[in-house]
Amino acid sequence: MRTPRLALIGAISTAALFGQASPAPLPAKVFDPSAIDRTADPCKDFYQYACGSWLRNNPIPADQASWGRFSELAERNRIILRAILDAAAAAKNRDADTQKIGDYYSACLDENAIEAKGLKSLQSEFAKIDGMKTAQDLAPVLAHLHRLGINVLFNISSGQDFKDSTVVIAQADQGGLGLPEKDFYFRDDERSVATRKEYVAHLTRLLKLMGAPEAQAAKQADDVMKLETAMAKASMDVTSRRDPASVYHPMTLAKFEALSDSFAWSRYFADLQVPKIDNLNVVAPDFFKGQEELLKTEPLPVWKTYLKLHLVSSQSQLLPKAFDKEVFAFEGTFLTGTKEQKARWKRCVRATDGDLGEALGKAYVEKTFGADGKARTLEMVKKIEAAMGQDLTQLAWMTPETRKKAEEKLAAVTNKIGYPDKWRDYSALIVKPGDAMGNSLRANEFEFNRQLQKIGKPVDRNEWEMTPPTINAYYDPQMNNINFPAGILQPPFFSKTADDAENMGAIGAIIGHELTHGFDDQGRQFDAKGNLEDWWTESDTKAFQEKADCLVDEYSSFVVGGGVHLNGKLTLGENTADNGGVRLAYMALMNILAGRTLPPVDGFTQEQRFFLAFGQDWCENDTPEVEQLQAQTDPHAINHDRANGVVQNSPEFRKAFSCTVGQPMAPAKACRVW
Ligand SMILES: [Zn+2]
Repeated sequence: MRTPRLALIGAISTAALFGQASPAPLPAKVFDPSAIDRTADPCKDFYQYACGSWLRNNPIPADQASWGRFSELAERNRIILRAILDAAAAAKNRDADTQKIGDYYSACLDENAIEAKGLKSLQSEFAKIDGMKTAQDLAPVLAHLHRLGINVLFNISSGQDFKDSTVVIAQADQGGLGLPEKDFYFRDDERSVATRKEYVAHLTRLLKLMGAPEAQAAKQADDVMKLETAMAKASMDVTSRRDPASVYHPMTLAKFEALSDSFAWSRYFADLQVPKIDNLNVVAPDFFKGQEELLKTEPLPVWKTYLKLHLVSSQSQLLPKAFDKEVFAFEGTFLTGTKEQKARWKRCVRATDGDLGEALGKAYVEKTFGADGKARTLEMVKKIEAAMGQDLTQLAWMTPETRKKAEEKLAAVTNKIGYPDKWRDYSALIVKPGDAMGNSLRANEFEFNRQLQKIGKPVDRNEWEMTPPTINAYYDPQMNNINFPAGILQPPFFSKTADDAENMGAIGAIIGHELTHGFDDQGRQFDAKGNLEDWWTESDTKAFQEKADCLVDEYSSFVVGGGVHLNGKLTLGENTADNGGVRLAYMALMNILAGRTLPPVDGFTQEQRFFLAFGQDWCENDTPEVEQLQAQTDPHAINHDRANGVVQNSPEFRKAFSCTVGQPMAPAKACRVW
C-alpha cells in the first residue's frame, strides 16, 4: 500500500534508475536544441520534434530496458555515489554510518565470497520452511519471511488511516505473486500466453538449480503456477486499486482474522512482534477469503516450494551467479527486453541506496546540494502554488462552495525539498563485512520493524519515502505534501544557468504535476488535512468526472509497443497531473515575466522553449517489452504520450508553434480538468 498510494512523477520499476558505465558525461542542458529533429513538424508529432535527434543519438544500452533523460542524470548520480561508497569502504576510523555503507557495499561487490557460500546463506530459512508439519505451521514461517521483507502470500504493514490522517494503523493487503500483476495470469493474447509459459519454465530451472530432479521440478513449477493463479484470482487488479474507497475496509482484528480462520493468526502476530492491533485496514478483503480456500485445499509441499522459490528469487543477486543469471533471464530479458545484466557495482550502489538510503544520502547531499538549491526550488514551488490559486479563481465549472475548500486545501500543502531535516537512525542495524546476504536480510528486517513500530504512534510528518539521490518526486495525499529529493533538482530538469522559460518548462511542469496530484481523481477525495472526506458538491463532482472522462478517452486511444492500448483509467491521475502541471508552470512563467520578453535562443521564443524543455523531460527510448509492461501495470503513460497527450490540450502550445485546429497536436476537442 505504501508505494502505490504515492503519486510519483515517473515509473520506478523500469524508468532507468541505472545506466551506462563511466566516464561521467557533462551536465545536460535543460533546453537542448541538439535534441530537436528539425525535419519533424511540431504540430504533427511534438515528441518527435522535441526529442527526435536525441532519440536517434541515444540507443538503449545493452544493460537497460529504457534510456532517457532521467537515465542520463542517473548516470552522473551513480558515479558520485560510487565514489562516496568506495571512499567509505576504504576509510579508516569511520563513523557508524560510513562503516555501514562502506561494508554493505563491499560485501555486495564480493562475488567470490557469495559464490563460495552458495545456498548456505539461506540455510536457516530453508530449514524453517522444510520443518513445517501442518498447515498451521505456515503462520510462524510467514511471519519470519515477512520480517525479512520477502513478499509471500499477503502483506502486513502500517499506514495513515484514510479517515484520520493523524493516526497510524496496521494494514493487511494481498501479495505474493511472481508475475507483475493479477491480469498477467488471465489475459489470453499471444504475449501473455507466452509469458506464463516462460514463467513456468523459469521456475522449473530455478528449482533444478536448487537441487530438484528434472521431472519433479517441472511438476513443482506447475503446482506453484496453479497456486499463484488462484491467489491472482482473489486479488484486486491494478486499476481498481487506484480508487481509495476500494482499498479502505477498516475492521476489528477479530473480523479480519475470521476472513481466513484456518490461518493461525495469533501465532503469526506473536512472531511478527507487532504492537497491539485492535483495528486495521484490510485493503483487499476478498483476497483473504480466497486465501482461506487455498489453505484448505493446497497441499503443504506446494506451499513449501512456493515459499522457497520466492525467497530465492527475491535474494538472487546475493546468491551464486547461476541464480542471478536465471532470475535476470526472466525478469530482465524476457519481461523488459534488457539484453545484459548490469555491472555488479551499479547493482550494489542501488542496493546500498535501497537499504541505507539516508546514510548514503547524507554524504550525497553534502557533495551535491547546497542551501541555494533549496531556496531557488522553494521559490519556484511558491510561484506555482500561487498560479494554482489563480487557476482556481478562474475555473468556470467550479462552484464557490467547492472552490473555497480547494483553496483551503491548497493553502495547507506543505513542501519538502532536497533531504530530510532529521536523518534516519540506523544504529540498530548491524552491517558485517563479508556478509552480503545477512546484511540484506537484516536491513529488510530493520525496515519492516521500523514500519510496524509506527502503529499506534503519531504520524511523523518529516519522514521521506524517497532517498535524497532519487531522481523522482511525489505528492502524498494523506500528508498533503509534495516532496522533491535532491536527485531531481539538477540538469536537465533544473539549472542555475537556464532561464525562467526553460526551468519552468522542465522542473516547473514537474512541480505543477505533483501539486495537481492533490486535485486529481484520487487526490481530490482527500481534504486539506489528508483525510478521505468528500468536500465536493454533487454538481462539482459531476463536472469533474465529465472533464476527467475526456482525458480517459484521449489517453485510451494511444497505442504503444506490441499493439497494446494505454489504459486511460489506470493513468488518469498521472495524466491529470501532467496536463495541470504544464498549465500551472506556464501561468507561473507568465507571472514571473509580467510582460517582459526573454531573448530567443537558437531562434526559439520563450514560449517555444518552455514547451520544448517540458517535452525534453520525456525523451526516452524504451524496448517494446517495457512499453507493453508499462502500459499494463504503470499509472504513468509512456513518455511519448506524456508529451503529446499534454500539448494536444494546450491552447498556449498551439499559439507558440502556430498549429491550426485539426492538426494532430491541435485536435478540435481538447480536454481540460484544471
Ligand atoms: Zn505523478
